[in-house]
Amino acid sequence: MLTSKQCIELEATYGAKNYKPIPVVIHKAEGVWVWDPEGNKYLDCLSAYSAVNQGHLHPRIVQAVKDQMDTLTLTSRAFYNDRLGPFLKKLCDVSNLEVALPMNTGAEAVETGIKIARRWGYQIKGVPANKAEIITAKENFHGRTSTIVSFSTDDVARKDYGPYMPGFINIPYNDLKALEATITPNTVAFLVEPIQGEAGVIIPDPGYLKKALEICRKHNVLLIADEIQTGFCRTGKMFCFMHDDITPDILLVGKALGGGVFPVSAAITRKEIMDVITPGSHGSTFGGNPLACAAAEAAIDVLIDEKLAQRSQELGEYFLTKIKAIDSPLFKEVRGKGLFIAIELTDQAGGARQYTERLKELGILAKETHVHTIRLAPPLIIQKVEIDWAISVLTDVFNT
Ligand SMILES: *Cc1c(COP(=O)(O)O)cnc(C)c1O
Repeated sequence: MLTSKQCIELEATYGAKNYKPIPVVIHKAEGVWVWDPEGNKYLDCLSAYSAVNQGHLHPRIVQAVKDQMDTLTLTSRAFYNDRLGPFLKKLCDVSNLEVALPMNTGAEAVETGIKIARRWGYQIKGVPANKAEIITAKENFHGRTSTIVSFSTDDVARKDYGPYMPGFINIPYNDLKALEATITPNTVAFLVEPIQGEAGVIIPDPGYLKKALEICRKHNVLLIADEIQTGFCRTGKMFCFMHDDITPDILLVGKALGGGVFPVSAAITRKEIMDVITPGSHGSTFGGNPLACAAAEAAIDVLIDEKLAQRSQELGEYFLTKIKAIDSPLFKEVRGKGLFIAIELTDQAGGARQYTERLKELGILAKETHVHTIRLAPPLIIQKVEIDWAISVLTDVFNT
């Protein structure tokens, strides 16, 4: 077996430097725990950016994928397959929507949402050709395609990738007045994260999404909720929009939909909106493949049967309360919803990276986001005793 050092050197030599990982190599995993090649054990508090909500190697998901692998893996959409229909039905049922378009990565789901909204704008709302506008929020993260980085406000993600896609207008997050003031007759959609994940788990005022939807309705604008990170029980409900008792017009999902095994994403909406998508006008070779469908159906079943929304809600509250109780001069703010938690450090702390590296030394894997924030988002199957252990480690690191 290669050592951690050898693995890191190989990546450094042969890989593009588009990531700056915490220096730990993961060799195997089970549930909330991962191991490096030397046998050291770590608590995963990132969950692959919430793509592993069900825990690593969930036996039921792994079995579903293994069974499917022995039967059928890929057909393309030139033909039907017997796994896609049941998967789409399950996805629509859990999201309170009617029709879904399957893709693979989150960024593809976002692109799909943008395409649906623009077509809807031209064909249903009556926006003049090529004039459609989509409102987005500052500090957003929606993925990495050239269109998506066009409306990013993160210079690192965007710089020197122009020319940029026109038709996007950024407004401050959590600002309903700005939303209403920015809508024009050509606005087709407001694309927003119910909680901004990559920005550092930024939680808007209660009712923000509900009021945003009211404003959108009033002006015949679609609300597109990007729940690629907040979805599938991460925030204590199946979807974060459910805290506001609403349903968005278009829902974008990915990450945990693949159960930690496979990239699976989708844009989900109502029939009258999705009808603007016609044969040949959008697609993906791997989108809706039988293996992905098997993984995703099992991934959703696990969330429901193991009551992971409720777990996320209860254990999230417990974890958050315990972190807040750590007496640390380094904490500026501790915030969270469900098991989606962030510790924002003071400027004096000197950046979060040294603390995520220290946490790694003590057996907790977490990743800093931007400069000063540490996100804690363990798999939702985490046990109370494991949270208690994490608290003791966090106390060691921060109660200085
Ligand atoms: C991760 C993420 C994406 C992009 O998903 P990929 O699978 O990396 O393309 C989009 N939106 C949000 C909110 C995300 O967290």
